Amino acid sequence: MDDDKSMVSRCDATTCRFNDDTNCTAGQVEISMSGQTAQCLTFSPADDMSDTQSVRADQH
Ligand code: SF4
Repeated sequence: MDDDKSMVSRCDATTCRFNDDTNCTAGQVEISMSGQTAQCLTFSPADDMSDTQSVRADQH
């Protein structure tokens, strides 16, 4: 099946707020391809999982 739609059918970024059980629920996403690696530019960390992977900038 040749589906040329730029829709993400599966995504491993489970910390993304649009990720629902490895499914992308974002209406549209921006993907950046570099070599073999695809990077989603729409990635947005989920608020309610801020205990992990949150980086806090130290203010001096
Ligand atoms: S927005 Fe990007 S990172 Fe988030 S679930 Fe969709 S494809 Fe994955």
